[in-house]
Amino acid sequence: MYDIIIIGAGPAGISAAVYGKSRGKKVLVLEKKQVGGLIGTVSTVTHYTAIEQKETGSTFAQRMKEQALGAGVEIRYENVTETKLAGEVKKVVTEQGNSYESKTLILANGGSGRMLGIPGENLKGVRLNAAKDGLQYQGKNVYVIGGADGAVKEALYLAEIAKKVTIVCVEEELVCIQEFKDKVVTHDNIEIMPHTSLTAVYGDKAAEELEFTDNKTGKKQLVKDAECGVFVYAGIVPNTQMYTELKLDGGYIPVDGSMQTEIPGVFAAGDICVKKIRQVATAVVDGAIAGIQAAAMC
Ligand SMILES: Cc1cc2nc3c(=O)[nH]c(=O)nc-3n(C[C@H](O)[C@H](O)[C@H](O)COP(=O)(O)OP(=O)(O)OC[C@H]3O[C@@H](n4cnc5c(N)ncnc54)[C@H](O)[C@@H]3O)c2cc1C
Repeated sequence: MYDIIIIGAGPAGISAAVYGKSRGKKVLVLEKKQVGGLIGTVSTVTHYTAIEQKETGSTFAQRMKEQALGAGVEIRYENVTETKLAGEVKKVVTEQGNSYESKTLILANGGSGRMLGIPGENLKGVRLNAAKDGLQYQGKNVYVIGGADGAVKEALYLAEIAKKVTIVCVEEELVCIQEFKDKVVTHDNIEIMPHTSLTAVYGDKAAEELEFTDNKTGKKQLVKDAECGVFVYAGIVPNTQMYTELKLDGGYIPVDGSMQTEIPGVFAAGDICVKKIRQVATAVVDGAIAGIQAAAMC
C-alpha cells in the first residue's frame, strides 16, 4: 500500500513526487513512456526559471529524472489503463498486468498531441518530432502545422536545419508570443501560410504530396515534394478517457485550491486540469500543491 501514487512523470508528476517524498511518504510514479513528459520531447525549453542556456527537452528531462531518483522516488514504467478512485483505498491497474493500491492518487498524465483527422496523417514523414527527426531534414523543405507558441518554437529550431520552413496556421496570423514573432521575421527561410489547413497527405508508404485548403476561399493547393517533412503541433487533448468517475469540464479535470478533485484523496496536477495557462511553471506549481496536500492526508 502506497501513501501516494502519481500517474505521469511529466513536470507535474515529478514535482508532486519530490514534494510527497520529502514529507516521508511512500510514493510511486507510474509512467508509460519516459520521465519528462511533453517537455522532454521538445527541441528547446524556454522561459521556465533557472533553465540552462539552450536547454533542450532531453537535458531538462534528464535533470528531472535525476532529481526524482536522488530523492528516493520509485518510478515504474507502466501504462495505467484503469483506476478506481472512489473509496478510502485507491486502485490503479496497468497494461503490464499489475495493480497497485494507495491512500491518495495524483492524476498528472497530461495530454497527447491532437490528431488532424485527415487522410494520410499516419504516412511516414508526417507527425514528426522536431527534436528527434529534425536533423534528417537538413537542406529539405518542412511544414509545421500550428501557429501557437509550441509550433512556432519548433519552427524556429527547424529553420536552423531545413532549407525552408512553412508554418501553416488556421488563424489570420501567428498566435504565438511576441518574442517568437520577432524571431520569425529574422529568418528569411520561414514562410507563413495563414488561414490555411493541411487537409490531406498522399503517398504510397511515405508522404509525397500535400493538400492545403485556404479556409477563406475553399481553394485547394497541391504541393508535390516526396522529401518534405510534416511536423504537427496542433494543440493537445487531455488524457482523461479512463477517469469515468470524474465529472470533466471540456475533457479537463476540475480541481479546488488544493488541487483536489471532487473525489476525496484524488488530486490532479498540470496540463490535465481545467486551467488557463499550460506551461512547465504552472505544472510544477500544481504538482507541488498536490504532493504537499496529498501527503497531509496520509
Ligand atoms: C511543442 C511544445 C513546446 C513546449 N514548450 C514549452 C516551453 O518551452 N516552456 C514551457 O514552460 N512549456 C512548454 N510547453 C508546455 C509544457 O510542455 C506542458 O505544459 C508540460 O509538459 C505539462 O506537464 P504535465 O506534467 O502536466 O504533463 P505532460 O508533460 O504531458 O506529462 C504527462 C506524462 O504522463 C504520461 N502518461 C500519459 N498517460 C499515461 C498513462 N495512462 N499511464 C502512465 N503514464 C501516462 C505521459 O507519457 C507523460 O510523460 C510546450 C508544449 C508543447 C506542445
